[in-house]
Amino acid sequence: MGLYRTVFDNFVHIRKNGYFLDAAREFIKYGGTSMNIVNFPDYFYTPDSYYEMLYKDTIEVAKAVSAAGINTLTTIGPYPLDYFYFRSAGKDPVFYMEKGIDMAISIIDSGNADAMGEIGYPHFPVAHDVYSDSEIILEYALEACHDHNIPLILHTEDMNEEGYLRLESLIKRHYKVNRVLKHHANPCDLKFQDNILKSVIASRKNTRAAINSGKDFLLETDYTDQKEKPGKVIPVYSVPKRAEMIKNMYKDHDEIFHKIFELIPFNFYGKEFFDK
Ligand SMILES: [Zn+2]
Repeated sequence: MGLYRTVFDNFVHIRKNGYFLDAAREFIKYGGTSMNIVNFPDYFYTPDSYYEMLYKDTIEVAKAVSAAGINTLTTIGPYPLDYFYFRSAGKDPVFYMEKGIDMAISIIDSGNADAMGEIGYPHFPVAHDVYSDSEIILEYALEACHDHNIPLILHTEDMNEEGYLRLESLIKRHYKVNRVLKHHANPCDLKFQDNILKSVIASRKNTRAAINSGKDFLLETDYTDQKEKPGKVIPVYSVPKRAEMIKNMYKDHDEIFHKIFELIPFNFYGKEFFDK
């Protein structure tokens, strides 16, 4: 369809044992051009090989998707719920997840991946010690990304303004706030006074609310290609579909596209990643 030069989905999980290249083709068919592929936890690896195998798989998927014609970014890193996996395996989650961060950093430094994520806190209420351990891991990741100038993607619980402001001050103790974004944010979060970049699920309602807020944001599907749970997530072609909606609804659509598909992602990840 070629609606616009760049149609970018900021957060997608695609797996070899999911819909894999079928999902990529579906995205292209509706006019998608670029996506950020984030590792999806698959707990069938042993704790000791976990991150090595997970990152390797994710990078292979991103290379195949890229060969299928999509401009891809690759995001790797420990997922907050990995904590429970290591703990139930009798391992120290903080130690294992910090190792996972170190490994991700060296892979990103070598040029085989582009960003760190998804790092942060479980999205449901957890015991105090789990939350504070998650924060130790997050602070470790922020420091590491600071040292290596790597963009970091947060996964957290839904937050009110106070939560975002607390998170912003935590980020600022370790890194620059403009190198960090929160994925799966709600469009109402855009009204808050913090400076954390938000990536919003690309439903019709959310997209309209995000545009009408006048704030900077990114669109994502958080698509998960789980054949075993169809209908759990919005379709992989949602961002290209929203581009079509924007084109039909907003007179200044070119300006909107330029902002959400180019200016903001280029600033956050670096333009060179979109020229690959
Ligand atoms: Zn997430």
